[in-house]
Amino acid sequence: MPSIDLKSEIASLVSLQELDSQIYALGIEKASKPQEIKTLEAAFELKKQGLAALEKQSLDLQKQRKEKELELAANAEGIKKLSGQLFSLKTNKEFQAMQQQIADAKADGSVIEEAILVFFEEADKIKAQIDSENLKIKEEEKIFLQQKKAVESRSEEINGKISQLDAQRKQIIPAIDPKLLQEYERILHSRDGLAIAAVKDNSCGGCHMLVPPQVINLIKMYERIITCEVCNRILFIKE
Ligand SMILES: [Zn+2]
Repeated sequence: MPSIDLKSEIASLVSLQELDSQIYALGIEKASKPQEIKTLEAAFELKKQGLAALEKQSLDLQKQRKEKELELAANAEGIKKLSGQLFSLKTNKEFQAMQQQIADAKADGSVIEEAILVFFEEADKIKAQIDSENLKIKEEEKIFLQQKKAVESRSEEINGKISQLDAQRKQIIPAIDPKLLQEYERILHSRDGLAIAAVKDNSCGGCHMLVPPQVINLIKMYERIITCEVCNRILFIKE
């Protein structure tokens, strides 16, 4: 009686589908993991941007301070030169004018020194901010690495589960006609991991479209494989 064979083969397909549905869901979850890791990495990189900005600020301050230091050196050099010329002057008027020039240059030097001190103070403030930001980022990095590790372990767990399900699959497959299995797998891949759908309340469990009564009768006869007219999935009726 071929009808009994078909009935038991459909039962095997239903068991196979239970495993394949799990494999399909796990496959989707696994495929989302690399993006999940990328998102975590991007969020962590974003948190490091504050530190990068502070470090740039610190470098800019150093550069500005060095410019002022060069300016101060040039100023001191100028004062030295003027002072050297002071006693070679001939008139009292020239002497006084030169003295005034030296006093002005010294006043300029004081202004530059003040500016250099301000740069040092600013640098100290930024260094304190960098230190506290570094501590924060170390904490953030710990959290990031933990989250990343959790995603990676879940990926490995999924691999393990898929292997287990594959092993269970191999035990069911010999009970199914190779041609029918091939057809089942073709539908499985083209129909979002669901190849065999139960008819419930006169509708297809895959696409939810109505299954006509004559088709339901055909399914119950187990003479041949009946597929949904809308989604082409294999149909069966739970008993
Ligand atoms: Zn359907």
